[in-house]
Amino acid sequence: MPASADLSSAPSSLQTTLDRLTRPAQLVEQLEDNRVCCLACGHRCRIPDGRRGICQVRYNEGGTLQAPYGYVAGLHNDPIEKKPFYHFLPGTNGLTFGMLGCCFHCPFCQNWLSSQALRDERAGISPDEITAGQVVETARRARSSAVVSSYNEPLITAEWAVEIFKQVRKAGLRTACVSNGNATPEVLDYLRPHTDGFKVDLKSLNDHTYRQLGGVLRNVLDTIQRAWDLGFWVEVVTLVVPGLNDSDEELQSIAAFIAGVSPDIPWHVTAFHRDYKLLSGKNTSVRQLLRAWDLGHQAGLNYVYGGNLPGEVPEMENTYCPACDATLIRRVGYYILNNHITPDGKCPECATAIPGVWE
Ligand code: SF4
Repeated sequence: MPASADLSSAPSSLQTTLDRLTRPAQLVEQLEDNRVCCLACGHRCRIPDGRRGICQVRYNEGGTLQAPYGYVAGLHNDPIEKKPFYHFLPGTNGLTFGMLGCCFHCPFCQNWLSSQALRDERAGISPDEITAGQVVETARRARSSAVVSSYNEPLITAEWAVEIFKQVRKAGLRTACVSNGNATPEVLDYLRPHTDGFKVDLKSLNDHTYRQLGGVLRNVLDTIQRAWDLGFWVEVVTLVVPGLNDSDEELQSIAAFIAGVSPDIPWHVTAFHRDYKLLSGKNTSVRQLLRAWDLGHQAGLNYVYGGNLPGEVPEMENTYCPACDATLIRRVGYYILNNHITPDGKCPECATAIPGVWE
């Protein structure tokens, strides 16, 4: 992919601040003539000296690729179900940090204030400088079970996430990323030794749709397969957007792909609400979500969940044993009403192992 903006064009004050909050990147290949190839996301930008990558937060200065470091633009102790993770420490909180920027530009982004901060002057979130140790201390004080990189795209800031995650692991907590899936094998290999959970969006099974969002379908499919093979705990989310990806054919294809990687990967079909630049279409109905849920089960997935309509789709929020159909976890939205899974991750009725990270 070609690089984007020139460093000499007038930077915004936000850009100037963010450029100061960087360190030399580790996910990089040096090329001739002071050019670099960034390995942090599937765009693989080849960046000449003095230019930025597509995400605008990684840039080449004098032949050195600079990567974001040492700040957060959001830090909240969220229910882990909000990520969403349903098979990863249910009923606990994950201290979630976000940074700024993204390698995609989805018009329906629900985190556009963070993700599009460098493309859309209406966003206006500022970074707060922080150390990795301070993030861990915040997690300890908040009694978080995990620290999660989310809100913007974690892949483009992977070096900073790893710096934090190393200290989080030493403190005995889990770690996770919430990603758009536009990864490279290099960034997954880099994250894996320090990261437990990987939530991936699969927004469509249509490459044309992905190109409109700034991505490539193949990269996302390869990410899901590779993340599962590498042993991350993987959950997949599809935001069901009416008119974009809600046809039976497309939802069937998405579910079949996930089931082909593993029927044990939880698939979250979540309801779209008008947001950011997609303000005129319809919100997702309960009926559409139920249809997606049915199609997921028909494709052979063991765990399908409906999200973003708390209490309106109760049977879609629970976890059931795929062997004996016992109700294992009852949820309303982000809240756990009861959890019957045994401490070693089994159904209490028939002892079937339920895949996930339970402690
Ligand atoms: S993170 Fe992705 S978009 Fe940003 S410079 Fe690297 S390859 Fe390009």
